[in-house]
Amino acid sequence: MRPGDAEYKNIVSEFSGNERPPIGRFAPSPTGKLHFGSLVSAVGSYLQVRRAGGLWLIRIEDLDPPRERAGAAAAQLTTLARFGLLSDRPVQRQSRLRPRHDAAMRQLLRRQLAFHCACSRRDLPASGVYPGTCRRKPADGRPARSVRFRVEPGQVRFVDLLRGPQNQVPAEQCGDFIILRADGLIAYQLAVVVDDGASGVTEVVRGSDLLDSTGRQILLQEALGLPRPAYLHLPLIVDDQGRKLSKSRADDPVERYCLREALRLALRALGHEPPAGVQSLESQWRWALKEWSIERIPTGPIAIDVQGCRHDDYTPSDDAPISL
Ligand SMILES: [Zn+2]
Repeated sequence: MRPGDAEYKNIVSEFSGNERPPIGRFAPSPTGKLHFGSLVSAVGSYLQVRRAGGLWLIRIEDLDPPRERAGAAAAQLTTLARFGLLSDRPVQRQSRLRPRHDAAMRQLLRRQLAFHCACSRRDLPASGVYPGTCRRKPADGRPARSVRFRVEPGQVRFVDLLRGPQNQVPAEQCGDFIILRADGLIAYQLAVVVDDGASGVTEVVRGSDLLDSTGRQILLQEALGLPRPAYLHLPLIVDDQGRKLSKSRADDPVERYCLREALRLALRALGHEPPAGVQSLESQWRWALKEWSIERIPTGPIAIDVQGCRHDDYTPSDDAPISL
């Protein structure tokens, strides 16, 4: 969607006084059922953009078929819908957007902002920083395996809405990074930038595990002439032993939780636990939309005990249906 499209004009006309509505998104990978850490990202991104009267989109990041589980995307969408989390536009599947990823990659190659690389993992130093081996041509005349984006020395500065000014040096973090993988799949970094740009996403709200890759994504945005969205990296959710929840509880899906209790815990993780009298899903959402403030979000990591809201015999009909 771009300025000039009928769809764009319709949406903009709903926002009198604003040139463009804010657009946020939640982009889960269908590698399993929705876990609590993902729910927190969904709730945070939803509240941040809805509080400002904007649109919230869901995009399934199904870029990596070997890591996917059959039916996971549908199960995640069903779980989100039970919380009232519905995309304001048709849900996109990243795997179907490959032509535009390829077009972006070809453009970068044509402009020599990317290059073919013949190196395998074994050729890389232990630091993981690409030494520039194939920058001029693939080493030793070996066949190209992947495509890398050319990273020049220098800082990438941006402001995280929660964490303040950030300063990353991708040349020291990773060097020239992969945009087309040796297995023929488009790399996450390129796909996320191209798709956020094409959807007009103005706010990227996600887990702080992705903070480190923001500098790389900004370099790609600049190379492709895409606008830079605002960034907000939410606290990481850990268990009582400090382990990332998505790792330690990968087999413990949110769909087994009581919805009201799970939403309350997600809001608590975001520094917005509703008062005890605010019980139903609908009243929790109303309260959170009214109270939402970035200043209240902890920078984390946050230890949350999800055991309390897990009910093996739970059925979603125990919660009243909601309409937001
Ligand atoms: Zn190489």
